[in-house]
Amino acid sequence: MNKQDEGLITLGALLHDIGKARERTFQPLPDWARGEAFQAKYSHEPFSALFVDEWMSHWPTDQHTLRRLVLKHHDPSLYDELLVSLADRLSANERAEAEGNEEGARGRAESVLRSVLSRVRLEGRGADEIYHKLLALSLNRQVLMPGRDESGSAEAYQTLWQAFTNEVTRVPPGDIPTLLAVLRKYTWAIPSDTRYKTIPDISLYHHLKTTAAIAACLVRARLEEREVQTLYGALSHRYFKQPSTPTEDELVNRPLCALAKGDISGTQDFLYLLTSSGAARGLRGRSFYLQLLTEVIAAWILRQFALPMTNLLFAGGGHFYLLLPYRETAERFDNLRQQISQRLWKAHKGDLSLTVDYVPVAAVDFLEHDAGGNAFAHKWDEVSRRVNERKQRKWRELDGNEMMLTLFTAQQLGTTAEEMCQVCHGEWRQGRDEMDDGIRKCRRCYQFEGLGQLLREPTYLVLFTVPEREPPDPWDWRGVLQAFGVFPWLVHEGEDVPEKPNGATGALVYTFHTSGPLDFLTDEVKARFRWGDMPVSFDSRLLADATPMKRESNGELVIAEFSDLAEASEGVKWLGVLRMDVDSLGDVFKKGLGNNATISRMTTLSESLRLFFEGWVPQLCQQYNPVAQGSTRPENKDALYLIYAGGDDLFVVGAWSVLPKLAQQIRDDFREFVGGDHITLSGGIAIEHQKFPLYQLANNAKYALDDQAKEHTRTVDGRSVKKDALSFLQTPLGWERFNEIAERQDELRAMLRGDGGTVSLPRAFLTRLSEIHSLYEENRQRQRHRMNAKEITLAQMEEEIAYAKWVWRLVYHLSRFGERYTDHQDKIRHLQQAIARDRDGLISVLHVLARWTSLLTREG
Ligand SMILES: [Zn+2]
Repeated sequence: MNKQDEGLITLGALLHDIGKARERTFQPLPDWARGEAFQAKYSHEPFSALFVDEWMSHWPTDQHTLRRLVLKHHDPSLYDELLVSLADRLSANERAEAEGNEEGARGRAESVLRSVLSRVRLEGRGADEIYHKLLALSLNRQVLMPGRDESGSAEAYQTLWQAFTNEVTRVPPGDIPTLLAVLRKYTWAIPSDTRYKTIPDISLYHHLKTTAAIAACLVRARLEEREVQTLYGALSHRYFKQPSTPTEDELVNRPLCALAKGDISGTQDFLYLLTSSGAARGLRGRSFYLQLLTEVIAAWILRQFALPMTNLLFAGGGHFYLLLPYRETAERFDNLRQQISQRLWKAHKGDLSLTVDYVPVAAVDFLEHDAGGNAFAHKWDEVSRRVNERKQRKWRELDGNEMMLTLFTAQQLGTTAEEMCQVCHGEWRQGRDEMDDGIRKCRRCYQFEGLGQLLREPTYLVLFTVPEREPPDPWDWRGVLQAFGVFPWLVHEGEDVPEKPNGATGALVYTFHTSGPLDFLTDEVKARFRWGDMPVSFDSRLLADATPMKRESNGELVIAEFSDLAEASEGVKWLGVLRMDVDSLGDVFKKGLGNNATISRMTTLSESLRLFFEGWVPQLCQQYNPVAQGSTRPENKDALYLIYAGGDDLFVVGAWSVLPKLAQQIRDDFREFVGGDHITLSGGIAIEHQKFPLYQLANNAKYALDDQAKEHTRTVDGRSVKKDALSFLQTPLGWERFNEIAERQDELRAMLRGDGGTVSLPRAFLTRLSEIHSLYEENRQRQRHRMNAKEITLAQMEEEIAYAKWVWRLVYHLSRFGERYTDHQDKIRHLQQAIARDRDGLISVLHVLARWTSLLTREG
C-alpha cells in the first residue's frame, strides 16, 4: 500500500463518524443528497459523506475514495473500507451490529457526554452522574466543569456545527494536525455513541482520533484481505460468545499494534537542586523545557515511523503514550531507543534521561471483557510496568566507553568553588559561562533563566521541523531539541515572526491560552505565520502559567523573586511549596473503568485530568497575583509562582500563608470536576524562612505529600479512608479535618485581631492551646509506651489518653479567657466543645490550629 492510500485510510477513519454531530442538528439531508450515492446502513453515514462533499472538496485528496470510506464504515466490502471499519470496532468496541439499529433510541440530540471521570469506580465507590455541556472547548469554569444537566438539544448541536464548519474551512488543505486541533475544539464534548443502552461517556473526538490511530497501524500490518475479513467476523463471534476457528483465534491474538510509553527521569534533581540565586525564573524555564523535550521526542518517534499526530495518544506530566505499528516497532525500537539515549546523554550527561518501552497489542486487547477481550487498561498498565523496570537499568543502551569517557572528563573539571555554578553547582568555566550581577551562572542555568523570562506572557510557540544535528557544544536548549529535528521559537505581542531556520521543512504554530476560548486559526494568525510555500500547521496550547510580577521603583514590571513572594505572606514572611497529585492514579487507570476500559476511554480519561491541571489550576493560582493581573495598587503583592501543572500533578512556590487556601480550592474544584469522592487528591505543604534551600523545601513538600498525606488513614463516617489528605505543619489531615481547622483558624484570627469592634483576645490564648496539645501528646506517648511494655491493655491505654483529667482540666480552664473577654465567650465555649468532642475532638491536632494562627498573626 502506498503512502497516499495509507493517508487516505487514516483520514477516512478520522472523519468516519463526523456525520453524527451533523445528524443531531436535526436538519435533514438536502434533496440532492438523497439518492443512490448516499445509501448506507445507518443514518449518520450519509451525513459523514455529506461532510466530505461539502467541506473537504478543496483538499488535495481522492474525494471519491474518502467519501466511500466514511459512507461504508458499517457495511464494508472493499479492503480499505474493511480496515476503517475494523479500526472503528477496535476503538470503541462498536456494538451497533450486536444491538441492532441505533435509530429510535433515546434521542440523538438529547444526549450529552457523561464525564468519564464520573464513570470510574474504585473500591465500590462511584460518583454522581455529571455531564459536559455541548460547547466548544474553552478555558472557563462554565465549560470545563461538568454539571448535572443531562439534556442536550438540536439547537446546541446546530450552534456547534455552524462554528465547527466555519473553522474547518480555514484548515490548510491536507493538513492533519490542524484538522485534529479543530476536531478537538468542537467535538471534545460530543458523545460518540448515544444508543439507548449505552452510557455516552466517550467523546467523539477521542473516538475519531483513536480510530485513526488504529487504522494507521492496521494499514502497516500487511494483512491480506481474507485475513481482514476473518478478523472482522471473529470480533462478532467473540461478542456473541460463539465458537471460533483456530484461524480466527490466531488473528485475534496476533499483535497488530504496539503501545509505547516514554517517561522522563531525573526531573527531581534537574528542577529542584538549585540554590536560590535566580532560581525562580530558572525553575519555570526548566519545567517548560522538560515538557517540550518530552513532546518533541514523542513527535520524533512518530516521524521515524511516518505516522500522523493521531498516534500520539497522550503527552503530559513528563510522559507520553504512542500507538505504533507492531512489526516495524519490533524491528526498529531498540535502535530508536539507543539514538534517544545517546542524544540525551550528549546533551545532559545523565542528568536527564528518557525511558521508553512498548508492549504488543492484538485485536483482543482492544475489546472490552464482555466482548471477549482483555480490556485496553491492561496494556496501559503493562507498558508502565515495563518502563519502570527498564528505569532500574538506566544507560544500558549507551556505549559504555563513551559514557565512561564523559564521566571521567567531567570529573576533571569543576572541582573548586571558583569553577562551580552558583545556581546548580555544576561546572562553570571562565569565558564560556556567564557572570550575572556578580553571580557565576553556567550556560544552562543562564539560559533557563532566559527561557523563564520568555515564558512571561508569550503569545505563540513556533516549532519548526528542521534537519537533525548533534547536540551542540557549548550547550544550548534549542540545540537539544534540534537534535530531535525541532527548532522552537517563542513569540510575544508586538514581536516579529521568526525567520525560517536553514533547512526547515514545516512549522507548527501554537497559540497560547491561559483562559477563554481556544482560538488559533484566525485570519491574523494565518496571515502572520507564513514562510513562502512551506507547510504550516496551527494548534492551540494551554500555558499553565501563573507568574508573579512586581513593579520596580522606575515603574517597570519584572518577575518577582522568591524573597518577594515571602514578603507577600500574611504574618511571618516565609516561603512555602505546595505539591499535589491524584491519589492511586495507577488504580484509576488500571481498575477504575473495569470492563469498559477501551482505548478511547483511556485517552478521554487522561485528557480530562490534564485539562483540570493545565487548564484550570493555573486560573486558580492567578487569583493570587493581582499585579500580574494588572493591579497598580501599591499595597498589592503577587504571591504565587506556578512552576508546574500538568498530567495529574502540580508544584507551586509561594507566600506560605496563601498555600493552604489554594490547596483547599484546588481540592474542592477537583471534587466537583470528577463528581465525587471516588477519585481523590492529596497535597503536601512545606514552609520555611526564605533563606532555607529550595531543594530542601521541595523535598519536605514531597515528604509531606508522599509519606504523610498519602499514608494517612482514618475513619470517616464509619468508613476507613486512606490518602485524600493534606499535610500541613508536618501534620497529615484528612480534607474533612483540614476544612474544620481552617474554619476555626479564621475565627480565632478574627478574635485575636478584635474584628467587628470586639476586644482582641491575647496571644496567650494560643500559647495555652499549644500547651494543651503538648501535654496531650506527652501523655499519649507515655501511655503508648506503657502499653508496649504490657503495663496496661489497649483499652486502658485508650481510656488513659481520652480521659486524662489534667488535660481536660486545662481545656476547661479556657473558660477563664471567656470570662475575661466576654465578647468571645460563646466562641470559646464552642471551641472547647470541639476540642473535647468524643473520638474526633480537635485535641489531637490542636497544635496545627495554634501554630497556624500564631504564624499568621506574628510580625516579621
Ligand atoms: Zn548552573
